[in-house]
Amino acid sequence: PVALAGHSYEVLIGSDLLKDAGLRVKPHLPNGQAIILTDEAVAALHLKTLEDSLRQADIRFHSITVPAGEGSKSLSRFGEVMENILAHGIERGTTIIALGGGVIGDLAGFVAATALRGVPFIQIPTTLLAQVDSSVGGKTGINAKAGKNLIGAFWQPRLVLADTAALGTLPRRQLVAGYAEIVKSGLIADAALFAWCEANGKAVLDGDASALGEAVRQACTFKAGVVQKDEREQASSGGRALLNLGHTFAHAFEAEFHYDGRLLHGEAVSIGLHMALALSVKMGLAPAEDLTRLDAHLHALGMPATVADLPHMLSTETLLAHMGRDKKLRDGRITFVLLKGIGKAFTCRDVSMDDVRALLLVEGFAP
Ligand code: NAD
Ligand code: ZN
Repeated sequence: PVALAGHSYEVLIGSDLLKDAGLRVKPHLPNGQAIILTDEAVAALHLKTLEDSLRQADIRFHSITVPAGEGSKSLSRFGEVMENILAHGIERGTTIIALGGGVIGDLAGFVAATALRGVPFIQIPTTLLAQVDSSVGGKTGINAKAGKNLIGAFWQPRLVLADTAALGTLPRRQLVAGYAEIVKSGLIADAALFAWCEANGKAVLDGDASALGEAVRQACTFKAGVVQKDEREQASSGGRALLNLGHTFAHAFEAEFHYDGRLLHGEAVSIGLHMALALSVKMGLAPAEDLTRLDAHLHALGMPATVADLPHMLSTETLLAHMGRDKKLRDGRITFVLLKGIGKAFTCRDVSMDDVRALLLVEGFAP
């Protein structure tokens, strides 16, 4: 359960949930009607299963398919989808169902938040990243020329259906990217989850059904707890902002690769986690043993952790410029999520750019 004032919902996690998704979503459809939004890659693999199950449950629906990839989180694609559903005569109770990864969840959620000033929304996440992170919490949105996720709304789903069997068709690289967000959850506030990852990470990435189910359950429980305490990211400390651990570095790496698929978000996060803990150690905040432990885990699973894992070299000054743009920079100091150790994240408003610069150089980034 995700308990929020006035709009609580459940995250159902299990293998093969898609086959009887119709029966599971039906109680949540105010007028028995739905619109499925998906991408071309997911449509080819999983759309028929969902459509068959909706038909069996006597749900009236139509499906809209957009191209796969970050490019679909655009104003033009948003406009196209919106005109399409309005032309079909959508009603207040018509429910938008997102079938896909975080791109589809973010786009469909924003469509649901804005069509007729808001219609019901259901998430059926099909990537590990979407199952453990983006489908829970109600952040929806699209990208602008000025930056990622700058146009959006908080709009919670009525239900999240995470079918771990759907991950069977996901390329390993995408699985690794989603897994990085699970490691992040452990690092932030759950040392037991991190230890669980050390013991079970390989099974998760090998696609072991029970390990995947348990990983998604733990990560969703963690995320639900954070979102319940700080639904709209307003807490000045300890709330949703902590979910940005590793992300100041990650966003700077990603911006340099223009979100074109050469570096996946979760891959950037994986390196970002190493950097955030390395910075914490460098500032004397966290024990060096914890960094050794994190690096050993990332290394054991073949996850990106260093500059050598990037598609090409990046320069320290370029990265610093991105970070300065990304966050509020005051007197050469910047806000970061740092660690006092594994499971102990906090927001630090007082990180000096010189410390970050020194770290990037030690880590082997070009000047
Ligand atoms: P994605 O949606 O682009 O999916 C990755 C790729 O996997 C796509 O090509 C997709 O077609 C394919 N795919 C999806 N499911 C598949 C399956 N079962 N089998 C085979 N292929 C499949 O990317 P993502 O990593 O899921 O999500 C990234 C997006 O999520 C970013 O836009 C990011 O901003 C957003 N995000 C949002 C939140 C939030 O809280 N709303 C949190 C984190 C990330
Ligand atoms: Zn992330």
